[in-house]
Amino acid sequence: MSVSAEMIWDSAQSLLRSRIAPETYDLWFQPVQAIDLSDDCITLQVINEFSDTWLKDHHFGVLREVLAQAAKRPLQVKLKVGGGVANGVPSSVTGSRNPEAERLQAEDAASARGGRFNSNYRFESFVVGTSNDFAHAAALAVAQAPGQIYNPLFLYGDVGLGKTHLLQAIGRHVADHKKKARVMYRSSEEFTNEYIDSIQKSELSRFRKACRQTDLLLIDDVQFLSGKERIQEEFFHTFNALYDGRKQIVLTCDRPASELPNLQKRLVSRFEGGLVAGLELPDVETRGAILRKKQESLGVKLSDEVLQFIAGCIRTNVRRLEGALVRVATYARLIGKQLTVETVEGLLGEFWNENSRHPISIESIQEKVARHFDLRVADLTGKRRPERIAFPRQIAMCLARKFTGCSLSIIGEAFGGRDHGTVLHACRTVKDRMEVDLHVREVVLGLEKTCQR
Ligand code: ADP
Ligand code: MG
Repeated sequence: MSVSAEMIWDSAQSLLRSRIAPETYDLWFQPVQAIDLSDDCITLQVINEFSDTWLKDHHFGVLREVLAQAAKRPLQVKLKVGGGVANGVPSSVTGSRNPEAERLQAEDAASARGGRFNSNYRFESFVVGTSNDFAHAAALAVAQAPGQIYNPLFLYGDVGLGKTHLLQAIGRHVADHKKKARVMYRSSEEFTNEYIDSIQKSELSRFRKACRQTDLLLIDDVQFLSGKERIQEEFFHTFNALYDGRKQIVLTCDRPASELPNLQKRLVSRFEGGLVAGLELPDVETRGAILRKKQESLGVKLSDEVLQFIAGCIRTNVRRLEGALVRVATYARLIGKQLTVETVEGLLGEFWNENSRHPISIESIQEKVARHFDLRVADLTGKRRPERIAFPRQIAMCLARKFTGCSLSIIGEAFGGRDHGTVLHACRTVKDRMEVDLHVREVVLGLEKTCQR
C-alpha cells in the first residue's frame, strides 16, 4: 500500500471531520481505507456494496473536494469494495455448467429450510432506479452480511412496489450463499396463524423454538399485526431473542411503522431501531426498464414505442405494469407480429380506466404545486431562488419526472430553461429530504396523489 495514499486520506479525514456530522463520519467514512494512489487518481476501499452506493450517491462531492484539498491537486476518486464480504449480485452465469439445475437445487434447499420463494424474486431481476435504490442497496447489504450491519431492516412502501420481491431476494441470496443458514419467511398473517395453531395444539414451545432458532427471519406485511395484542406480545419476544442473538430480521410494511395504528410503542421502536428504507413509485425510466427486463422473461420483443407508451400510462404500481405487459405480450405472441401503439391502447382499455387515462402534463403539476405552496406558476418557472420558492420548484420538477414521461431536458426547459442536471439534482434533493424529514415526505406524497387526480 502506498504511504502517500494513506497520508492524503489521513488529512482528508481530518477535513471531513470538520465538515460533516460525527455520526455521518463514523458511519460512512471511518471504515474507509486508502489503498492506491497514482498521479491523478486515488483508490479508496469501502466495506461493502452498500457503502459504495451510499457514498457515491450522497457524499461523493465532498469526498472529492477534501481529497483534492489534501492532495493539493484535483484527484479522480475510485471506490472499491473489499474486505471479506462477498460483493456484487450473484450472477446466474458465474461459470456454472448448468445454472438451471443449480437454481433448482438451491430452491429445494431453500424450501427445505423454510423459505418458500418465488423464483422470479431475485436481486438480478429487480430493476434499480431512484425510487428504490436505497431500499435495494440496503437489502443487498443485509443479504451479504446478515445480522452484521443493519438490524432489523424495515422496508416500507405502497402496494406493488417491490417489497416482497426484495424480501424474498434477501432470503434467496442467504439460502444460496450460506448453505447452513436457517431462513424463515412468513407473512405476518401466516405467523399469526401458526402461533394460534400452535396454542390450539399445545405446541407453543415448539413454535417458539422454530422461530427463535432461525438465522434469518423475514416477515412480510407487518401492518397485519396492527391491533393484535397477543401476537404483538409474542412477536416482541421472538424479535428480542433473535436480535440479542445477532440474527438478522427483515420486515416489510405498507407504511412507516410509526404510522401503524394500534401497534405497541415498544414494537414501533424496535422496528425503527435499525435501518428504515422506503420504496417510492418508480419514475417513467425505471418503469420502462422494468418492462424491458420483464419482456425478456415473457419471450417477446415489443417496440420501444409500445414499451414507452405502457410505461407512460401505468404509473401507480409495478404489479399492474406487469399485468398490462403480460396481456400485451400474450397478444403479440398470438398474432406473431409487431404491435402498434394504437392496438396496445385498445388492448389495455380497462387498465386505463382505472388509472386515469389522461397523461399528466408538466403544466398541471406546476399549477398544483404552486397552489399548494401559495405561489404563482411564474415563481416556479422564474429565476428567483429563495428557499420558499426553490424547494417547491424542486418538488414540482421531481413530480414531473415521475409522472409525465418527459425527458429531463424537456422538464428543465419547462421550468424556465434549466438544464437536465438541475432536474436530476432536484429529484435527488427531494428524495433525500423525504428520507430525513417526515413532514416533507407527507407533503410530497400528498402532492403525488393530487397530481394523479
Ligand atoms: P409489494 O410486496 O410491495 O406489494 P411485490 O414485491 O409483490 O410488491 O411486487 C409486485 C410485482 O412487481 C412483482 O412481480 C415484482 O417482481 C414486481 N416488481 C416490483 N418492483 C420491481 C422492480 N424494481 N424490478 C422488477 N420487478 C419489480
Ligand atoms: Mg408484498
